[in-house]
Amino acid sequence: MNLMEYQGKELFRRAGIPVPRGQHATTADDAANFVKANDGDWVIKAQVLMGGRGKAGKVKFAKNAGETKTVAQDIMATPMPPNRQNPKGESVNSILVEEKLPIAKEAYCAIAIDRTTKKPVIMVSRFGGMDIEEVAENHSDSIAKFFVDTAIGYSPFIGRELAFNAQLDPGYRKAFPAIVGGIYDLFFRYGAKLIEINPLVLTSDGRVFASDSKVELDDDALYKNPEFKQWEETLPLDEDETLAAQAGLGTRNFRRFEGTVGTIANGAGLAMATMDAVKNAGGDFANFLDVGGGANAERVRNCYELVVNHTGAKVMFINIFGGITRCDEVANGIVEALNTTQSRKVPLVIRLTGTNEEEGRRILADAKMKPVETMDEGAAEAVKLAR
Ligand code: GDP
Ligand code: MN
Repeated sequence: MNLMEYQGKELFRRAGIPVPRGQHATTADDAANFVKANDGDWVIKAQVLMGGRGKAGKVKFAKNAGETKTVAQDIMATPMPPNRQNPKGESVNSILVEEKLPIAKEAYCAIAIDRTTKKPVIMVSRFGGMDIEEVAENHSDSIAKFFVDTAIGYSPFIGRELAFNAQLDPGYRKAFPAIVGGIYDLFFRYGAKLIEINPLVLTSDGRVFASDSKVELDDDALYKNPEFKQWEETLPLDEDETLAAQAGLGTRNFRRFEGTVGTIANGAGLAMATMDAVKNAGGDFANFLDVGGGANAERVRNCYELVVNHTGAKVMFINIFGGITRCDEVANGIVEALNTTQSRKVPLVIRLTGTNEEEGRRILADAKMKPVETMDEGAAEAVKLAR
């Protein structure tokens, strides 16, 4: 789960990382009322999961309540334009009003897992701000890294060394080790996969603030903090996630792609293997779909309809491994689902193996459906039918 900036900053506050004072608001009026009650210069920032808000004109300044209202309305009026990270764009449903900082320097600081060393890696650059991707591509030597030995943990000397190696402005030095300690602490306390501060701002009067936050939490660690469940409910679903939820699937059980071979499998691993098999057979899959546990008629029908109504599938490859889910149950589900669906019909290729396989095959045979023997055979058949 990815957090919005204001949620990430709530975690930052708990770890003692300095963030500018501000207010999260869901309407332009709420934002304006906050500014009316609090003098000063303010920055109004779209709250979206996508990055690149600054470049998209979704970070703006305001000096009073009137300006705040206009700017906030303007930011929320249009969605974030598509980019490489999110080709569909994202609507802006709330904003963060924050004290405008007099920025002298913008640095970058993050913690993530390094898969090669299997250690948390802390990364620091003196070139923070809106072009860090460009920095990573063309000036990667300017990014200082420290691979933390988790048996020893974090000590302030690591932060000092990183600040030195990254040649951070001396103005950062005093505050920096504790800020890195803060993200290190949060990384473990909440089970994060990435915590990024970009920019880490040094103000012209010598203060240091986390001016932006990007936090990716490990979905398997959400239990560590019960309030994350509530936070998750406030986060927007993208189109695929919305469709999955409407079909009664988990939001991560369905993804659309460009191809013409629809796929339904049980278990995320088998679903991905099915996509690989289609690709290996020279075809292109239309989707990822994990039906999850149990596959009664309603569930199979929902999945079938989800794929034929929302992807370019010309054929459906159903690949089931009966474990706890029994093949006869799935076969009944398939037969009944196809008898009752109102959606368009596409040719089916079925592979069914595992618990109660014979019974499942008999049920399919009675309905004049003959399953293939192997996944590769099924993929080849599906690819042929999709042509
Ligand atoms: P992002 O583009 O989505 O990463 O959004 P950021 O929160 O990083 O903001 C983008 C840019 O807006 C920053 O790199 C700053 O240059 C600018 N900005 C954001 N907050 C302030 C502020 O308080 N004062 C000033 N002067 N600029 C700001
Ligand atoms: Mn940023």
